[in-house]
Amino acid sequence: MVQVLQAGHMEKRIQNIEVRKTDGPLVLEIRGNSLDDGPGIRSVVFMKGCPLSCVWCHNPESKKPSPELLFDASICLSCGTCAQVCESDALRMKKKKLIFDRSKCTLCFACIDLCPSGALERAGKSMTVDDVIDSVMKDKPFYDTSGGGVTLSGGEPLMFMDFASEILASLKKKGIHNIVETCGIFKMERFMELVLPYVDMIYYDIKIMDASLSERYTGIKSDLILANFRTLQEISLKKHPGFLLPRTPLIPGMTDTDENLSAIAEFLSSLGIKKAALLEYNPLWYAKLNKLGKEVQEAGKSREWMDKKHVAHCKEIFIAAGISV
Ligand code: SF4
Ligand code: SF4
Repeated sequence: MVQVLQAGHMEKRIQNIEVRKTDGPLVLEIRGNSLDDGPGIRSVVFMKGCPLSCVWCHNPESKKPSPELLFDASICLSCGTCAQVCESDALRMKKKKLIFDRSKCTLCFACIDLCPSGALERAGKSMTVDDVIDSVMKDKPFYDTSGGGVTLSGGEPLMFMDFASEILASLKKKGIHNIVETCGIFKMERFMELVLPYVDMIYYDIKIMDASLSERYTGIKSDLILANFRTLQEISLKKHPGFLLPRTPLIPGMTDTDENLSAIAEFLSSLGIKKAALLEYNPLWYAKLNKLGKEVQEAGKSREWMDKKHVAHCKEIFIAAGISV
C-alpha cells in the first residue's frame, strides 16, 4: 500500500494550490510538432499559473493564473494604431514613439488584434476541455506514426486538477499517449484519483534539495516536492519502466552546484531511480521578462548558454551515482 506523505503543515500550506474554476483555467499556448516534451511528435498544452516562483523561470508569462498583456517594444512599429483604441490612456504616442504605461492598462485587450506587428499579445485564454481536445486531435496522425502524443505542461497543469483530469481522460479514451510535466506541488490524493488513471508518463522536476535554498529560489520549500516524488516512485515500480522521469534544470549558481546535484543524485539513487534528465539552462527568458514589463530581480544570473564542459561535469555527478542522464 502506497503511503501518502502529507504532514498537517504541508496540507495547510497547499490547500489553496488549485485554482478555482471561476478563476481559470487559462491556456497559454498549444504547441504542435514538439520533439522535446516526450517520445515522438507531441502537442504540448501549456497552462497558465504556477505555485512556484522560480527566479530563473524561462516561461515567466506562465506564472500568474490570470491573463496578462505582453508588449515587445523591439518589434513595435510605433504606428499608433493601438493608441487610438486604448480608452484608458495606457497606450499613447509621444514624439512619434509609442509609450506604454502598464499601470493604466485595464486588460481589455482591445488593442491586440489591431497591432500589425504582433508587438502586443494576450497571454492566457479560456478554453473548454472540448476546445483543447479538438485542437490536439488534429495532429493524431503524427502521434500515430511517431509514437507521440500529448503533454500537459505549464505553468503547472496540476494547479487545475479537474481540468487536467477531463483532458487526460478524454484523450486516453481516444488512445492518445499522455504525459504530465509537474513541479511536484499538488495534493497527492487528488492526483491519484483524477490524474493517475489517465497518464502514461510523468516528467517531474526536482530542482533544489536544500529546503531553505528551495524557498529562496523557488518560493517554496522542497519537502512536499520530495514527499510526492517518493510516493510516485513507489507507484512507478508497479508501472512500466520510464513511467516517472525526474528532471533537473541546470541553473548557474543555483541548481548546478556540486552540492545540490550530488544531493539530488543521492536522493534519486536511494529510491532506485536509474534514469533522469538534466535540462540545460536557457538564457532567453530575459526577453520574455521584458515583454511583461518586469525587472530581473536576482543578481548574478547568466545571460550565456551553459559551457558544454560544465554540462558534462554535471552529468558525471549523476552517472557516478548510477543514474543515466
Ligand atoms: S489591453 Fe486595453 S487598456 Fe490595456 S493597453 Fe490594450 S487597449 Fe489599453
Ligand atoms: S499597433 Fe503594434 S506596432 Fe503599432 S504602435 Fe501599437 S504596439 Fe506598436
